[in-house]
Amino acid sequence: MKNVEKKQRSLYIKSGSILSSALKLAQKNVKEGTPLLGLCEKIEKFIEDEGGKPAFPVNVSINHIAAHFTPSFDSKEVFSDHDVAKVDIGVHLDGCITDSAVTIDLSGEFGKMLEASEGALESALSAAMPGIGVGKLGETIEKEIKKKGFKPVQNLCGHGIEEWVAHASPSIPNTSSKDARELEPGKVYAIEPFATDGEGLVHEGVQAEIFGFDEKKPLRSMTGRKISDLVEKDYKGLPFAERWLVKKMKMSDFERKTALRELLQKKSIHAYPVLRELEGKIVTQAETTILVEDKDILVLVK
Ligand code: MN
Ligand code: MN
Repeated sequence: MKNVEKKQRSLYIKSGSILSSALKLAQKNVKEGTPLLGLCEKIEKFIEDEGGKPAFPVNVSINHIAAHFTPSFDSKEVFSDHDVAKVDIGVHLDGCITDSAVTIDLSGEFGKMLEASEGALESALSAAMPGIGVGKLGETIEKEIKKKGFKPVQNLCGHGIEEWVAHASPSIPNTSSKDARELEPGKVYAIEPFATDGEGLVHEGVQAEIFGFDEKKPLRSMTGRKISDLVEKDYKGLPFAERWLVKKMKMSDFERKTALRELLQKKSIHAYPVLRELEGKIVTQAETTILVEDKDILVLVK
């Protein structure tokens, strides 16, 4: 992985500062009756107005849904007063990506679980420094979450970030592990503890609204070729939502569905299925992005 140069450092800092403001906007707007679709579009527009781009569609994962949910283009879903909502946002400036999330508890019943994921992130940030092993960070996260009486979600992890790559190696586990790969100066990482009162495992659901581009493939469908051109040019391999295609291209629902099916079959794109807690229990998440420097770390999203 190429190290972050001076010019990129300032782009990462700007990206993180736009993301901090976007998270505040989320915190202000997630309340009973707010449409999920309206919230995501508002945040994505805010990011562009500030001179950034969404690094992936705004994720709004509620209750037992841990990650990868974004509303469909025709969603009428609104937040209810018993929702625990994780809003996960990515911003990039010229491929310099920051990734951060916040959990908002509208039920008022899961404050302790919020403290567990937030506390685990705080502890991991205190421990993070150049040279620390990622397994050690996992141990810190696990300890903090268990201390509060919850379980970490063991098959969701933090990750490295590279230019134009939102999820790069190494994974940063949320449980103790022997993985001795170290945080390296000049590199960017997202740390994201998840806490739950369930089993501590997520599995893939059927629904997918978010996709990632892999490579160009010969396609039968004209709409498929148009989608492929658009996502290669505009998103450069970063994840995109079906609802973004609806906004950008004129096509019938049937044409779009058929084209997406062909793109998936030919492995030109892949889906990010919604991830649910195995027992259907509540999940909370905290996340930020750091830049590791020579002697210290810089927290990019505060
Ligand atoms: Mn995230
Ligand atoms: Mn992440």
